[in-house]
Amino acid sequence: MNRREFLETVGAAALTPILAQRAPMSEWGSPVFDLHFHLRSELASNLAHLDGAGLAKANLLTRGVVGEEMKALAAAAPGRFTWFTSYDVTQSDVGRVLSQGVKDGAQGFGELKFHLAADGPELRRIYALAAELLVPIVIHFQEVDHFPNEGTWSAGFAKTFESILNAYPRTTFIGHADAFWANVSDDYHNEAAYPSGPVKRGGVTDRWLGDYANLFGDLSANSGNNALSRDPEFTADFLTRHQDKLLFGSDCSCRDGHGAGVSQSNNPAAARLAGKCVARETLTVLQRSTSPAIFQKIAWGNAHRLLRIPV
Ligand SMILES: [Zn+2]
Ligand SMILES: [Zn+2]
Repeated sequence: MNRREFLETVGAAALTPILAQRAPMSEWGSPVFDLHFHLRSELASNLAHLDGAGLAKANLLTRGVVGEEMKALAAAAPGRFTWFTSYDVTQSDVGRVLSQGVKDGAQGFGELKFHLAADGPELRRIYALAAELLVPIVIHFQEVDHFPNEGTWSAGFAKTFESILNAYPRTTFIGHADAFWANVSDDYHNEAAYPSGPVKRGGVTDRWLGDYANLFGDLSANSGNNALSRDPEFTADFLTRHQDKLLFGSDCSCRDGHGAGVSQSNNPAAARLAGKCVARETLTVLQRSTSPAIFQKIAWGNAHRLLRIPV
């Protein structure tokens, strides 16, 4: 869909009563902010997922120059969306495009998902820019293929990312995806995208969330859900320890907030969530694993603080 079509879609939708609806705020006992939601081309389908899953707001992950589209969306559905910007980090104009995104209202960078080393020169440039512009950055870390010959994304997390956390203390990193979450366990060696079974305490993700003020965790997707589901005793402690560092997100691609359509982009390794809404599944695990006060921080408060959104 091109820009004109998008604006026309938003404009048409603005005339329909669906926009007067607000998400139910009470279903989860706290309003919920979805940090990780990929922009869908039609306004109504963005809202259908929010409303269906009982979410108040979503942070839209976008790519390229979308300032006009985001303005139209904000006007059509006031208060329901914030957005992050991203762009091909190997392009020479990446700095200009991302800076323009922030000028246009983007509140962060992401998601950054490239076949590059996590500590390579292309991404280092973006880490520095995020610090300069005072915006957080969501990064997809993955070492194990979901599909044949997929390749790695932001490779080297467990081996090299501590050096990045030290080198960029003023950059706010939000870790996401398979390698970030599998490494809550100290015995992980890239043997599976989504390891199961009890967590061996002392994994790098757990340690670094405690040791580095500039690292946060995005609980979205099968990766986040899997990490919270594999060892209930670990999960309860982990959520308590890092209650100010974790952010709820869905990364859900289901149609209606109830699991219709495709929920995890047909990723065969994530079949455990097939036919389910990832947002609902992860909120349910969070709810049964922690107190209402901590749930509210993870589902709502932490994101508002980090993105500087007035509650
Ligand atoms: Zn991702
Ligand atoms: Zn869903």
